[in-house]
Amino acid sequence: MLTIDGSQGEGGGQILRTALALSMCLGKAFQIHNIRATRAKPGLQPQHLAAVKAAACIARAEVKGAELGSQTLSFIPHEVEGGEYRFAIGTAGSTTLLFQTLLPALMRARHSSRVILEGGTHNPMAPPFEFLNQAFLPLINRMGPAVKARLIRPGYVPAGGGELNITIQPASRLRPLNILQRGKLIETRAEVLLSHLPEHIAERELGVIGKALQLPASCLSSQLDSLAIGPGNCVSVIIKAEGITEVFTALGKRGLPAEQVANQVVQDVRDYLANEIPVGHYLADQILLPLALAGSGAYVTGPPSLHTTTNMAVIEQFTQKPFTLEHLTPTTCRVELA
Ligand code: AMP
Repeated sequence: MLTIDGSQGEGGGQILRTALALSMCLGKAFQIHNIRATRAKPGLQPQHLAAVKAAACIARAEVKGAELGSQTLSFIPHEVEGGEYRFAIGTAGSTTLLFQTLLPALMRARHSSRVILEGGTHNPMAPPFEFLNQAFLPLINRMGPAVKARLIRPGYVPAGGGELNITIQPASRLRPLNILQRGKLIETRAEVLLSHLPEHIAERELGVIGKALQLPASCLSSQLDSLAIGPGNCVSVIIKAEGITEVFTALGKRGLPAEQVANQVVQDVRDYLANEIPVGHYLADQILLPLALAGSGAYVTGPPSLHTTTNMAVIEQFTQKPFTLEHLTPTTCRVELA
């Protein structure tokens, strides 16, 4: 049984999620200690416990330590079964992170799946739905599987209550992912999602972004949602280029002026465009696992985050196949799995 140290590197939930996903995919049992050791509330929080239980369900796994607050866990997977699943986190915990835990196994299962997830869909420090749907999933679909996600109802902190519906047509072999150039820009769009908040917030956010990024009105849109059970706001800028689509987001927060929310996204977009890289800060750590499952691939990105280097180390423990990270310039690097 593999032993994983949950306090290594970044020391957060991703270590656990990557271990669960690879354990299911490769049929390798593991135990993990010091789960989320570097976080203010260490151990399994509802979102992580939901990931463990959902993973145990789809891989018919034997699990010890699956309790709230637990800092150790053992997981022995059996056969992964595609099918119809519904998992509720029970809090506003991130459904997109829960989904990313289950997807690697389900996209290589023998049968297709339909998964319904309940919880948060727009959480701080997690991929918002727009990022998942327009940046992450197109790369997965490029590799062979056909994955479609629908936002049925947004869920924000603290109320939660959001819902994602996802269908997954697996692929028996994954094509390697090679993303070395951004290529020509095709389109830039801004989208604002607004639930139970005054419409002028969306107008002000789009006003700031439209002006700063010089986007015509036809590239600015807002969705005024009334299905969420609590208020919330997400600003997204989608940059579609020949080689990749990247998505930059910011979440509205009580007391934070709409202009500042919009300006956060503008800054991220400007930083991305100023650096000649295709893969942005967040995709860089999230596509390592699909790359490892394909067995090879490469991408060019900015300086690696601690999430990226930590994820590499955890993946390598499972696969015994090292990634190489080559600094091309002070602001760009190339990640490769040969
Ligand atoms: P952890 O902190 O270990 O729970 O991992 C958080 C994960 O969420 C990482 O894979 C990050 O790349 C991802 N993430 C955090 N913020 C964003 C964001 N704004 N957009 C996309 N992904 C994000």
